[in-house]
Amino acid sequence: MQTPTDSPGLYCVIGNPVAHSRSPWIHARFAALTGQALVYERLQAPLDGFAASLAQLAARGGHGCNVTVPFKHEAARCAHSASERVQLAGAANTLVLGPDGRIHADNTDGLGLVDDIEAGAGVALAGRDVLLVGAGGAAAGVLGPLLERRPRRLVVSNRTAARAQALVQRHAALAQLQRVELQAVDQQGLAGDFDVVINATASSLEGGAVPVPERALRAGGLACDLMYGAAAEGFLTWARERGAHGRDGLGMLVRQAAASFALWRGVAPPAAQVLDELRAAMAAGAA
Ligand code: NAP
Repeated sequence: MQTPTDSPGLYCVIGNPVAHSRSPWIHARFAALTGQALVYERLQAPLDGFAASLAQLAARGGHGCNVTVPFKHEAARCAHSASERVQLAGAANTLVLGPDGRIHADNTDGLGLVDDIEAGAGVALAGRDVLLVGAGGAAAGVLGPLLERRPRRLVVSNRTAARAQALVQRHAALAQLQRVELQAVDQQGLAGDFDVVINATASSLEGGAVPVPERALRAGGLACDLMYGAAAEGFLTWARERGAHGRDGLGMLVRQAAASFALWRGVAPPAAQVLDELRAAMAAGAA
């Protein structure tokens, strides 16, 4: 899957909308810090034009792309081969375009989140009680890698309970293999409290209330929102007011990008450094 580390390459992020994406900034820093020659662009595809945009990238000699909302499911379907993570999630955020025209799909969202919790926040997931709130594309992408870290118990809770149940069912065999107690619970039926609470919903984007009961988050625990910037503030404040540590989704964003970069280029970039740089640049209004 990897291209030689010294060959230049053309990459992009495909989405709609995509103008807000910080992926070009992140990959430009990764390239500069690892000495890789690559170009990374934004490509806004029409809502019914993902396949055509991908074909356009391939025709220009593109080596790969990231895929964001709303095309992650279509990206998984268009690939000739896919990682087990993609097969479980039904969604891909990273495509590798082979010289023979074959497309390989992977999903690095969960790797990014797990790495940010363990390496970034310093919280080992093994043996912990974890609550994953949400059952959309993002939750589907992170559930497999979370299970692979072997928490004691992983509960998925979602506004639409049937979606949480379907997600849990798809991951039942992996949970059994990893000896994790995996359950889907509707928001009213959520019992007990958790060491780690992950908000993978879009509720704050819509100005909704925090979709987690008061007692679910243990004092001293970790509360992660997959969102970042102003959209994450409500959830992070809620967590801090309950004596927990709050963490936004910027670390996940940089670390999922690092996993994509490593897949494409065969080189692991310094994600922690680039995360610090990105936070500073955003604070200064420069990214
Ligand atoms: P999605 O597929 O549209 O799913 C949205 C989820 O949010 C569903 O579970 C939905 O519940 C729930 N939801 C929406 N409004 C809600 C409300 N008012 N109250 C409670 N639940 C609500 O979206 P997605 O792709 O999973 O993305 C979710 C979030 O993760 C987005 O904000 C995205 O920006 C973020 N994300 C961040 C990263 C990163 O690298 N940091 C990566 C991927 C995604 P229902 O099923 O009931 O509709």
